[in-house]
Amino acid sequence: MDRYFTPFKVIRKLIISLLVVAIAGWLFGYTYELIAAYLLAVVLWNSFYQLKLSRWLWKSRTTQPPQAAGAWSDIYDGIYRTLRRTQIRRRNLALILQRFREAAETIPDAGLVIENDGTLVWSNKLAQVYFGLQWPTDKGIRITNLIRHPKFIKYFAEKDFQEAITLNSPVGEKREIELRIIPYAKAQLLVIARDVTRIRMLERMRKDFVANVSHELKTPLTVMQGYLELMEDPKALPPERMTKAIADITVQTQRMQLMVEQLLTLSRMEANYQESFTEQVAVGAMLNALVTELCFMLEEHQVQLQTHIDNELLVLGNADKLHAAVHNLFVNAIKYSGKGAVIKMSWQREGEQACFSIQDNGPGIGKEHLSRLTERFYRVAEDRNSSTGGTGLGLSIVKHSLESHRCQLEIASTLGQGSCFSFRIPRELTLTKD
Ligand code: ADP
Repeated sequence: MDRYFTPFKVIRKLIISLLVVAIAGWLFGYTYELIAAYLLAVVLWNSFYQLKLSRWLWKSRTTQPPQAAGAWSDIYDGIYRTLRRTQIRRRNLALILQRFREAAETIPDAGLVIENDGTLVWSNKLAQVYFGLQWPTDKGIRITNLIRHPKFIKYFAEKDFQEAITLNSPVGEKREIELRIIPYAKAQLLVIARDVTRIRMLERMRKDFVANVSHELKTPLTVMQGYLELMEDPKALPPERMTKAIADITVQTQRMQLMVEQLLTLSRMEANYQESFTEQVAVGAMLNALVTELCFMLEEHQVQLQTHIDNELLVLGNADKLHAAVHNLFVNAIKYSGKGAVIKMSWQREGEQACFSIQDNGPGIGKEHLSRLTERFYRVAEDRNSSTGGTGLGLSIVKHSLESHRCQLEIASTLGQGSCFSFRIPRELTLTKD
């Protein structure tokens, strides 16, 4: 049925009904009275439904239209249908908005929407964390009042958003944030920020590493080049200086070789970091073998060794990595503790953990160095030609190898009294021989 009203339909209906009433009035002899009564009834009927409509629209909370008769029923239904359509559209829009918000929260970057003049319109949670924003209190505030970093204020004022900028987070100075502004919609800007602390740290580490390796290789190469130049003229190098030259070249070659080996060990450890605890390692036997192997060094340095080793105590882990750790700690103790020193090496159960410690009564290490000892190439004495011939890589190898056994290197040292290097293998990796 066509429920749509046209002027023609309305007029036709009125004329027909008036004609019917007029004919009925003429038949009964009350033409005008009946027409007047009919018109009054039409006005009252329309007023009644208008009133009902107005009450429904303004007072009632339900979307369901009230009961109506005749043409008013079609009008009520029409309004109801429009209302429902708007409602569904609004619900769909709310759903889209909700999905957009959820998506904006899941992206790993911080996002802010600002007006062209800098007024803050919207921000996701990460942006609130990175820039310490209070939401929704900060909504409507200019971005330059919220991120007051001079670099950002200049960037925003210049309106040249081709490049990203890096700043320290206003919340934690250590956090580095890379920030980019992208023109968005008609008069809005999208600010995207991400935490680049780790990336920047890795970049710095890589640069330092290359600089360190080049620096470390330069010294021995310069020494060798110097001697080679001298050797070109046999008169310039008498036999006794020649012997010294060969000895020096040998030391430098050995140092370079050691450094390359240690660098390879480190990169191997980094490459296969995954923990594999399937191998049973007899650390006691490993330490006894090490003592035999390094006996000559103990004699050379005139160092006394006391051991306290539990041969029954095993570890689930990687034998090569554990060997690298204890070997480096043992060699260091011999190298650095000096003539006549006493070294105490212990491998014992402590509670549910297995504890290794190597203690010496050597010169000890200053407090200021302790936290940096496991950094690559870090040495207490900066003398690259020293008799100890260290590379500064030994303790970083120890650190790496222990990390893959879920433990850390502990260092205690007092100047003039000696040092103690130790680690504790956690309970779940400790076994006893049956
Ligand atoms: P290196 O190849 O120089 O021995 P390491 O990383 O093994 O490098 O050690 C870093 C520094 O720690 C050494 O240069 C040394 O100064 C100091 N060190 C290590 N062990 C001892 C120790 N037992 N006594 C005193 N100093 C030590």
